[in-house]
Amino acid sequence: MRLETLAVHAGSRIDPATGAVAMPIYLSTTFERAADGSYPRGYIYTRLGNPNREALEEATAALEGGAVAMAFASGSAAAFAVLQALIPGAHVLAPKDLYHGLARMFREIATAWGLSVSFVDMADPSAVESAIRPETRLIWVETPSNPMLRITDIAQIAALAHRAGAFCICDNTLATPILQRPLALGADGVVHSATKYMGGHSDAIGGIVVLKEETPFARRMREIQTTGGAILPPFESWLILRGLQTLPYRMRAHCENAMRVAAFLAQHPAVEAVPYPGLPGHPGHAVAARQMSMFGGLVSFQVRGGQEAAFQVAERTRLFIRATSFGGPESFIEHRASIEGPGSSTPGNLLRLAIGLEHPEDLIEDLDQALRALL
Ligand SMILES: *Cc1c(COP(=O)(O)O)cnc(C)c1O
Repeated sequence: MRLETLAVHAGSRIDPATGAVAMPIYLSTTFERAADGSYPRGYIYTRLGNPNREALEEATAALEGGAVAMAFASGSAAAFAVLQALIPGAHVLAPKDLYHGLARMFREIATAWGLSVSFVDMADPSAVESAIRPETRLIWVETPSNPMLRITDIAQIAALAHRAGAFCICDNTLATPILQRPLALGADGVVHSATKYMGGHSDAIGGIVVLKEETPFARRMREIQTTGGAILPPFESWLILRGLQTLPYRMRAHCENAMRVAAFLAQHPAVEAVPYPGLPGHPGHAVAARQMSMFGGLVSFQVRGGQEAAFQVAERTRLFIRATSFGGPESFIEHRASIEGPGSSTPGNLLRLAIGLEHPEDLIEDLDQALRALL
């Protein structure tokens, strides 16, 4: 089945009790036992398993083409569970341009319990190869990366990981399975912040891990999910599954709009650079064109005149909301260096646009009037 069809049907079921087409939300924390002590309907206690969470897990496993999926309380909790499944002493290779919350987790928390982490330029396979150590167990990929939109060749990095006996896990939040399917390219697992495009309406926080195969590592991760307890609640599971049904069509619109905004910015005299992978001048354009079906809904750009000028532009937009996050119908503008805080390597003149579902010409007009003030 094709992605659009899977998105509508995978995981959803007609309610056996009432025939309801939209799945009910099973808020119950606990489920009845039979007289003989068994659980004939398969559910015991919601931390261990819940119909809404299972439906979402089934749908994301189908969309990513994986054997198992686990839904967590946030994208961060999902990423955290992957680190928790590693044995102390293991070495992790992570990209230099990495979502800042995960960079912090890798640096501050993972190292405190005995993992070692090195940060490398994942767009440079020879740098990755020379950073691999005998104890390397995980290579973490994020492509496109946030916020610099760097592109990593997933197939190439996965092959390096496997030669070293390590897993390759890809944060697929920016692309979603609609634009990019890392498991088919050789990755062993995918992590999502479902808070973004999957949920798609800026109203639910969640995270997903999808693993290609049912391995001992997958069983350990399932144990971390259900015993560790950072599970996705039923209501959020329901909201995110509902978001998935329209994901293919929303992604198409986000990407088409983003492409038009990026092309507009690239020729604007107040703009210094537009690192959008859909533009032919982007260093990762060829790899992105090969491994993605479209180039994503985030557009970063650097304005002439430094941080001061960037703040002025963010202050002057009327349609773009000044807020963090992305993936909802509304467009956001954000000065990343100031939200990432000290230690951020994001340029001070960079603004990140989360392109929403408005008409692209309205977005372009808004940016044009905000940028004109700099000329
Ligand atoms: C937002 C984000 C996360 C973290 O997800 P939360 O749901 O906010 O915990 C991880 N990776 C990427 C690429 C993100 O954009």
